[in-house]
Amino acid sequence: MKIESLLIHGGIDGDEKTGAVNVPLYLTSTYKQDGIGQHRGYEYSRTGNPTREAVEKLISDLEDGHKGFAFASGMAATTAVMMLFKAHDKILLSANVYGGTFRVLDKVFKNFNLQYELVDTSDINKVKAKIDINTKAIFIETPTNPLMNITDIAAISKLAREHNILTIIDNTFMTPYLQQPIKLGADIVLHSATKYLGGHSDLIAGLVVVNNAELADKLHFVQNATGGVLSPFDSWLLIRGIKTLAVRMDRHIANTKEIIHYLQNNPVVEKIYYPGFDNENSDNIHHKQATSGGAMISFVLNKNYDINKFLTSLQLITLAESLGGVESLISHPASMTHAAIPAEIRAELGITDGLIRLSVGIENHEDLINDISNALDISFKGI
Ligand SMILES: *Cc1c(COP(=O)(O)O)cnc(C)c1O
Repeated sequence: MKIESLLIHGGIDGDEKTGAVNVPLYLTSTYKQDGIGQHRGYEYSRTGNPTREAVEKLISDLEDGHKGFAFASGMAATTAVMMLFKAHDKILLSANVYGGTFRVLDKVFKNFNLQYELVDTSDINKVKAKIDINTKAIFIETPTNPLMNITDIAAISKLAREHNILTIIDNTFMTPYLQQPIKLGADIVLHSATKYLGGHSDLIAGLVVVNNAELADKLHFVQNATGGVLSPFDSWLLIRGIKTLAVRMDRHIANTKEIIHYLQNNPVVEKIYYPGFDNENSDNIHHKQATSGGAMISFVLNKNYDINKFLTSLQLITLAESLGGVESLISHPASMTHAAIPAEIRAELGITDGLIRLSVGIENHEDLINDISNALDISFKGI
């Protein structure tokens, strides 16, 4: 089955018992047992719930993995994956990773002596140089948020395998519709399903897919032991969102192309960040491993514009954290998504105070461009 069909019919397709075309919502904490030690596959909903299982099978099919897991948030998913490691293990982390990923390693797991090091994973030699005896995983985001750096997933996975290291990819920005890291050699893929997979800004969820039975057993143990599971209702809502991923992404991307064209031809825009936009090498790598640049754009306005005024003058595009919903959202990474990263590291990474990040929604593209154009007029400070 092609991915557009798999989005709708993958995982558990409907309900065998009644013929309902949707997976039923099993709002239950526990299950009747038929005798001592005799149950029908379910004992307690932290361990397993049929609605959650449906979304877990679905994401596993979509990522072409071995088994999927659903968590109460993207961060709960990342946290569960980090719990596969132990004190003194070291994780190499893409520079510019999601702020929360950095924070959980820097402020929570550090207390348990799990080590991390930031590295520019777009340069394989820099990654090679950081690998030592304690390195157990390379955690990558590609494209990164918000500067859209590209990492070669196949090359990193190959290097990692040679050193017996796991490759973990946060695939939130691309989704399996545009990029399938397990097919490129990654071991673990994770998502903030809060974003494009849910797609309607109405739930918080995280998903993980692993590529083999050993990792699946370990992660299921962690999931059941620590309990950060996705509720049945949110699992059901997430399945509903995933069904329309392909049509939503196609429109997100078409709108993004129009907005990039507008920004490119506007002299007030100093710089645009979009996957592979001004770097032929990273462009080639991105298009080798993904079918599109996606629908996230970052850009910098020249200093004649009041950024706060620009952001607050938009009428249609909403100033808010998050991304990947049907509505366009705009944010200021330095004070919002990346505020947890210390200012000096932010500056080093290029997340300046002038940087703006736009999650392009599926509204009419002319309305979006008019909104940006009006807000620019209002926020002009003069030369
Ligand atoms: C939002 C996000 C997360 C965290 O997910 P939550 O669902 O908010 O916990 C992780 N990685 C990326 C790339 C994200 O955008």
